[in-house]
Order: sequence, then C-alpha cells, then structure tokens
Amino acid sequence: MAVTAPPDQVPVLNPRTGEVDFHLAPAGEAEVAAVGAALRAAQPDWADAPLEHRIEVMRRWADEMQARAGDLVAADCADTGYTGISRVGAYVTIAGIRDWCDRAPAILSQACRSGRATAAPTVEYASRRRPYPVLGVISPWNAPLMLSLIDAVPALIAGCAVLVKPSEVTPRFVKPLRETIAAVPELAEVLAFVLGDGRTGQRLIEQVDAVCFTGSVATGRRVAEVCARRFIPAFLELGGKDPVIVTQTADLDAAADAVLRGAVYGTGQVCYSIERIYVHADVHDALVERLVQRAERVRLNFPDPLGGEIGPFTLRRQADVVAAHIADAVAQGARVRCGGEVVQLGGGLYMRPTVITGVTHEMTLMRDETFGPVMPVMAYRSDEEAVALANDTYFGLSAAVIAGSGADARRIGERIDAGTVSLQDTFLTHAKGRDVDSNAFKFSGLGGSRSGPSALLRYSRSQVFLLNTAAPEDMLASGGR
Ligand code: NAP
Repeated sequence: MAVTAPPDQVPVLNPRTGEVDFHLAPAGEAEVAAVGAALRAAQPDWADAPLEHRIEVMRRWADEMQARAGDLVAADCADTGYTGISRVGAYVTIAGIRDWCDRAPAILSQACRSGRATAAPTVEYASRRRPYPVLGVISPWNAPLMLSLIDAVPALIAGCAVLVKPSEVTPRFVKPLRETIAAVPELAEVLAFVLGDGRTGQRLIEQVDAVCFTGSVATGRRVAEVCARRFIPAFLELGGKDPVIVTQTADLDAAADAVLRGAVYGTGQVCYSIERIYVHADVHDALVERLVQRAERVRLNFPDPLGGEIGPFTLRRQADVVAAHIADAVAQGARVRCGGEVVQLGGGLYMRPTVITGVTHEMTLMRDETFGPVMPVMAYRSDEEAVALANDTYFGLSAAVIAGSGADARRIGERIDAGTVSLQDTFLTHAKGRDVDSNAFKFSGLGGSRSGPSALLRYSRSQVFLLNTAAPEDMLASGGR
C-alpha cells in the first residue's frame, strides 16, 4: 500500500509495486558532522588495540549478521526487487568478514618491514601501518548491502573508523544491519551509516580522511574533484561496458550459457555484466540462435519473487535508459531478435532477456553503460579486429574470452585493456575475492585494487622509523660534503 511521506522525508519506491512504501530522513550537515566527529573520537582506541581485538570484534559481528541473515536478505531483496546478489549478498558479506579475519594477520605483518638500510648501514628501519582515521564509503543501489560493506570491512580491520552513505534508492537494509552493529558495542563506536541522497554524500566527504566511492563515472568524477580539493584520496570503483569475444572454435553451447548468465544475472544491473558480444562471423548466426533459444526460456520472477531468474529494474529511471539505448540502436538499423520491451507487471518494470543483432559502435548501446538484460551481438573476422572492438571503449573494468582452448583465450585476453579477464566463461570477477589483486582500467576506476591483499592495505599508509645506531655525522668536520 502506498505511504505518504512526511514533510522533510524522501519517498522511496518499491521496485516490485511501483509504490512508495518507505521514506527516509536525509542526514543534514549537522548530523553528518556529529556522526563523523564521534567516529573520529573513537578511532584512535580502535586503531591502537591489538589486531587480534579488532578481529575478535569483527567475528562477533559476523555471528550477529549470521543470526539475522534472514532479515538482512529480506530487506536487501525488498530494496532491489529480488534481483541477483540480494538473494545471497548477506551470506557473501558474512563469509567475506570471516575470510578477511583469517587473512589479515599475515597480510598486515608482511607489509611491515624492518632491517638495516643499504644506503646508510648504521641506520635501522622499521615500518608500521597507519590507518586513515575515518574512511567515507559512498555506495550504489545495485547490490546495496554488499557494496556498502565490501570496503568497510577491510578498512575496519585495518583500524579505520568508517562512515557509510548508501544510495537513497535502496535504504531498507540499513535498519536490520544497524541492529547487528548495535549488538557489538565496540563496533558501533567505529562504524556508522548516514542516510540521504547525493547531498548527504557531499557532506560526508567533508568529514572523512579518504573516500571509497562505488557508482557511475559521472558521479565518481565529481567525488574525485572534491576529494582533490581536500587533498584526500578517492578510491573509485566505477562503471563498465564489458565485452566478450567468442571465437570460431569455441564450444557454442557453453558460450551461449556463459553469455546469457553474464548479461542477464541481476537484470543486467551489475557493473561487470556482459554488455557487448563479439563473435566470429562464421559462427555468428549459430551463437545468436542459441542465445535466443536460451533467452526465451528465462523466467521473470513475477508474480513469485523467488520463482524465476530475473527481477524488475531496481531503479525505474534505469528502464528508460535501457529502452533509449535499444530505440537508438533500432533507429540506426539494429534488429531485436527477442525481448526488447519494458513491460509493467504489478507495478514493477521488467524486461525479458534481449538479443540484438546488426549493431555498430556508432550506437549508444555499444558505447555507454546500459545496465539492463541486453545482449548486443556483433560479428568480427580476425582476432585483431575482435581485440580492437573490445578495446574501443572508455571503460576497462573487465572482459571475457571464450575460445577453442584456455590457452587461445588467454592469448587474446592478454591484449584486452581491462583489469579482469574471464577465460572460457564470463562473469568470474567475483571469484577474485581476497586472493588476487586487480585494477580497474581507464574510466572504470582509480586508486588501487579492491580485491586481493591490496584491498586491505589501501586503507592504511606506511610509516617508517629510522634509528641511527652510530653517532650523527659531524657536518662541520666533513666540510658539508
Ligand atoms: P551513482 O548515481 O553514481 O551514485 C552512487 C552513490 O553516490 C549513491 O549513493 C549516490 O546517492 C551518491 N551520490 C550522488 N551524487 C553524489 C555527489 N555529488 N557526491 C557524493 N555522492 C553522491 O551510481 P548508481 O546509479 O547508484 O550505481 C550504478 C553505477 O555504479 C553503475 O555505473 C555501476 O557500473 C557502478 N558500479 C560499479 C561497481 C564497481 O565495483 N566498479 C560496482 C557496482 C556498481 P543517491 O543514490 O542517494 O543519489
């Protein structure tokens, strides 16, 4: 049932019903400043405590989240409309907290070095990590719970206090999450959420010592400019336009399975969704036929939210963007082979998996981020052409290659300008976890790796102590040499 928002509160639409069923009170300047100041006051004790203490607190928090996982998943699903990662986001996050706790002692101790300086043998050096006191996290709507914590967790373990501003589009998960935080008093002193729109995000930047921003390139640029003026780092995790190359020798059934999953999972609202498909001309028609067959078997999760494979658009505006990209492509001669329509069901906006052929790089569909369940397919004739097409983009988040063998896929993948390349499959980006670093290339991001050991180290700076074990050099005796 629709709820009228009280004055001064922001109405929030339910993506399944299209009605306002939630409202939030945006945090004003004074509230953001007060929360920031409280975090700043609590952070030194948190950072000075032994790492084992922080790990013990984080493990207790993971247990609290586990105990309330049902509520967290339900709220996250209500936020996004039961799409993709929301169904598992809480469990992925809990596993991530525990895994960081297991790995942190080795990563942090190996990052501290001590020894005798080669350039000055009487000098002993010893380094330690100094966390940024308060890290600001600004997160998007497409995986609300997971993306509000993916950077917060390693930052907390590193010794930062963390202030999070999630998207105003998806705020429902914050209430059950706050309950888990309140159940761990030591954590509640160093982790806080403020709700609101972009203005709250701007206020947050004024209160923190570093920002981790996940969102669009356009907003990321604005955030980076403000951070630059404040001379604080901005870790930017931005959009993508991921290509997949399918070669002449690829197993086309396996390729079609991989492309469909990579393009359609989460209604295509994933930064590393497959958004461009380049297939060798000799097997173009055979791949398109397989894609269309599979696309037509995908079920919308309507009316049963748990009953199908893809949910509604989380952000209604996004449906307009996707429809506009398709309309532009069709106006320039592209052909919709299946799907392609935004349909309203029970107040939610849905799109069936859409296959489009006859596309070119003049179309916005092949240039800008679409963020919908759309598979534009384009033929190529040589590996060189495929690589050139894949690289003809201002994004460089990730990519995929499916060839006759893993070695062939790797040979082509090495020429693609993207930070993560899935081979013989698509959409493996999540598998990097905490094992291996990778950077976002081009406009897809800046500021170090969000995966692997570096994701823990980027929230602290190295401070070195230099001890001279001999008498200080006498400048007067050496004549100033
Ligand atoms: P967005 O519009 O850029 O917003 C991201 C966050 O920034 C939201 O919390 C937003 O608040 C806030 N914000 C807006 N204006 C701001 C300002 N001037 N100063 C500070 N904060 C501000 O992105 P989105 O539409 O939520 O998310 C989708 C985008 O995120 C896509 O481009 C997707 O590819 C990208 N993404 C990237 C990754 C990655 O790991 N690389 C992961 C997921 C998503 P409000 O929403 O309340 O306005």
